[in-house]
Amino acid sequence: MASPWEDVLRDTAAIREAAAVAVDAALLEGVLMRTEGEPNASDVVNYAPFTLLPSAVPRALFEQAYAVQQDFNLLVDAISQNKEFLEHTLASTIKVDDFTARLFQIHTQVLEEGLAQSVFLGINRSDYMFDCGLDGTPALKQIEINTIAASFGGLTSRTAAVHGHVLKVLGKSKEASHLLPNSPSKGLALGIAKAWELYGSPSAVVMFLVEEIQRNIFDQRCVENELWNRNIGVIRRRFRDVFEKGSLDGARRLYMDGQEVAVVYYREGYVPKNYDQQNWEARLLLERSRAVKCPDIATQLAGTKKVQQELSRPGTLERLLPGCTEAVTRIRATFAGLYSLDMGEEGDRMAAMAIADPDRFVLKPQREGGGNNLYGEELRQVLEKVKDSPERTSYILMDKIKPQPAMNYLLRAHSPLQVSQCISELGIFGVYVRQGKELVMNVAAGHLLRTKAVEHADGGVAAGVAVLDTPYLV
Ligand code: ADP
Ligand code: MG
Repeated sequence: MASPWEDVLRDTAAIREAAAVAVDAALLEGVLMRTEGEPNASDVVNYAPFTLLPSAVPRALFEQAYAVQQDFNLLVDAISQNKEFLEHTLASTIKVDDFTARLFQIHTQVLEEGLAQSVFLGINRSDYMFDCGLDGTPALKQIEINTIAASFGGLTSRTAAVHGHVLKVLGKSKEASHLLPNSPSKGLALGIAKAWELYGSPSAVVMFLVEEIQRNIFDQRCVENELWNRNIGVIRRRFRDVFEKGSLDGARRLYMDGQEVAVVYYREGYVPKNYDQQNWEARLLLERSRAVKCPDIATQLAGTKKVQQELSRPGTLERLLPGCTEAVTRIRATFAGLYSLDMGEEGDRMAAMAIADPDRFVLKPQREGGGNNLYGEELRQVLEKVKDSPERTSYILMDKIKPQPAMNYLLRAHSPLQVSQCISELGIFGVYVRQGKELVMNVAAGHLLRTKAVEHADGGVAAGVAVLDTPYLV
């Protein structure tokens, strides 16, 4: 995608001035992050990294991503209720991946006891890149869907204002007026509020389950404050607090420090390092409770890379969404090639193919949060090592998506101002609420554009690679 800002990109004096304006605008708008040095204090904060200019996004693909989001919501919700599908799909993975196995064990235990939870809230983010075909036409291809702790809905609700201001300063007022409004933090809060209301206990609170290190607290505060604005109380607790002070009553209502909890919103718990033995026990307590978990453990499992790969098998979507032919077609159109490395002929063939042509693929373990995937020579070496052992089934293989790069400036505190060749990843937030079997909310709640320099194969904003951006539709 060529940059729509070719003229201004060449004017380095104007760029320098605009960058200073942009940083101040970001601070004023609250596009903030705590610092690496003091990740748990708000005495010293800085702006979250972002692009100087909005990046071009093809309008048709942007609209396609919005149009398929409700389908993805339905799909994730259907998978989460399909015990057999999860069991069958994750069978090979849980033999070799302890983390997935541990989650699955809680899932099984909770089902055996019988669910106390009757209201379900899903907040996910489906991420895409624009794959550049041989003829140069871009296509929308899903990278993954995040079903737990999908972040940046708060900060990205504030980036369009920053980019609008920068464009004006650069003499592009007309273009500034075309930037779309975007407020995922409102949409997320509406979902949480709906779940809270259906839970039906006006004095109960929403609990944000947060990490020990909370650099991205402002992103979460955006959603939190939307809830307070609706007079819904929010508390922030860590797994450790739940272990020490959480309890269930006879009806499995969840209490923290004597307060009933209606909704548990996880911004934690998606990687192995979030858990020690006590934290696993806390997780089990939360899952057993009647509180609405966002997500419940089945929905978290629905977001694994292994499930994503299984969904691409012919017939799987049709089985999961019977009678939803159009939704299935819309969903499938966004799939890149995904391949199983399960033991057997199919897996052998794919492993050999990837070893022979590593630049065509990405090798993905069952991990979240960026920086875990393997590319190129590293992919080849790892596959060589594991290709004959069941260890290979902890990975999936995916076609590498190759977007057309465009020039932009990535603004990052304490970094020199320099132009980079960049590629972008578009995320759409999905929110849904189900009461028993009835879906009472199903919406696309806004978008997130993240942009990184092409030399980084992997990694999100939290991983220090990508930066926040705003789509400029072309
Ligand atoms: P995570 O759960 O760690 O976020 P992702 O599947 O989103 O895992 O991959 C992390 C990053 O790696 C993405 O943000 C993207 O930049 C890059 N990536 C992932 N899959 C592909 C792919 N198929 N082609 C190109 N880049 C990819
Ligand atoms: Mg990702």
